[in-house]
Amino acid sequence: MKRTVLALGAAMLAACTTAPASEAQPAFSASGKTLRQIYEYLHKNPELSFQEKNTSAFLSAEMKRLGFTVTTGLGDQWVKARAMKEYGKVQDGVGGYGFVAVLQNGPGPTLMIRADMDALPLVEKTGLPYASTFRDTAWSGEESGVMHACGHDIHMTTWIGTARELVARKSEWKGTLVMIAQPAEEIGLGSMSMLEDGLYTRFPEPDHVIALHDNAALPAGYIGLGSGYVMANVDSVDLTVKGVGGHGAYPQDTKDPIVVAARIVTTLQTLVSRETDPQDSAVVTVGAINGGFKHNIIPDEVKLQLTVRSFADATREKLLKGIERIAKYEAMAAGLEGDKAPTISIKDDYTPSLYNDPKLVERASALLTKEFGSAKIATASPTMGGEDFARFGRTADKVPVMLMWLGAVSQAKYDASLRPGGAPLPSLHSSGFAPDPDPTIATGVKAMTITALDLLK
Ligand SMILES: [Zn+2]
Ligand SMILES: [Zn+2]
Repeated sequence: MKRTVLALGAAMLAACTTAPASEAQPAFSASGKTLRQIYEYLHKNPELSFQEKNTSAFLSAEMKRLGFTVTTGLGDQWVKARAMKEYGKVQDGVGGYGFVAVLQNGPGPTLMIRADMDALPLVEKTGLPYASTFRDTAWSGEESGVMHACGHDIHMTTWIGTARELVARKSEWKGTLVMIAQPAEEIGLGSMSMLEDGLYTRFPEPDHVIALHDNAALPAGYIGLGSGYVMANVDSVDLTVKGVGGHGAYPQDTKDPIVVAARIVTTLQTLVSRETDPQDSAVVTVGAINGGFKHNIIPDEVKLQLTVRSFADATREKLLKGIERIAKYEAMAAGLEGDKAPTISIKDDYTPSLYNDPKLVERASALLTKEFGSAKIATASPTMGGEDFARFGRTADKVPVMLMWLGAVSQAKYDASLRPGGAPLPSLHSSGFAPDPDPTIATGVKAMTITALDLLK
């Protein structure tokens, strides 16, 4: 499924030369602004996936001002081709707003630092003075509020702070610094759009790629590091169980897809509980099941939507094949085969699992522990969430990548949450997620800068 997307992207790119997206002039300039002012601006002005036009213009203007060579519109043709494929049209404002900013500083290693730019379709409920009141229409057509509920505004602010530091401390490093601003992380396609448009061929291929993600369960001032697999392969599967509908009172004249779907859901539970090594990790969740509309009608079909998570690619293959097998044979047991066999489609917005390079983590961990003290460096457990940052380490060259967790919760709120009856902390993607900006950004800039200085020796 991934192959189809890549082939489509490559064909589209061959057909049209990549022109940069028209360069918008930012309404607000970062020049002379503090990181706190930049953060509040970004928080107040969020943009949805593949619609990050103003955010991209704002960031790229600052990178130019700092002396970087900037190439905008990376992935634009790919994104438009994708929108055509999925929705039959390209909505106004939809495009590839990824950009690459390169700063050469003599011979030496190449380091890529990534920030993601998109926000989520949510109405903000933080009550902050700089809360977003934006509404917009996603490229898929749904209208909603828009909010930086995943903290990508923290990532961008930290990224600018790191760029400023590295420019000011140019005498302390050698090599090539490649700073990229990535669109559409939340829909899992942004890193692919940039790679498909030649991120590693048109620009210096990095020796290392680093990024950070804020964390809604870790206090500001703390860094979380995990080694090896830290985030999961994420697959979405659509499954349609077909049947022969009819009167609810005469089941003998029908083949009831609701009963078959129920059996499939139950048997799917054994993929993890009976077929996966207990030392391995996997999730098969049926998140939606829809069929029928009246008490006394047996429907013709039932539709299920699944999310499937794993770390190792072999486990992923096994789970996907297992879903197909269980659906097929449960239906067959009910006499549903041939043109009545279930149809399964694995969606091509797959996000690969994130493997933090152990050597890179070890190196960063030693440095960060020295800088912040061991009490502030937490060992992060792997999660079954996904991050399309993973893709930067999944090309043929297997570039070592590392994503750090950046604590973002105010210490007071964190402590209160631990007391009996204390208010639970809002998670990422919650309309109440409100990072504690100053200590979070300061820690992020420091951590990224010292890691970069070490990798650019
Ligand atoms: Zn997110
Ligand atoms: Zn995120």
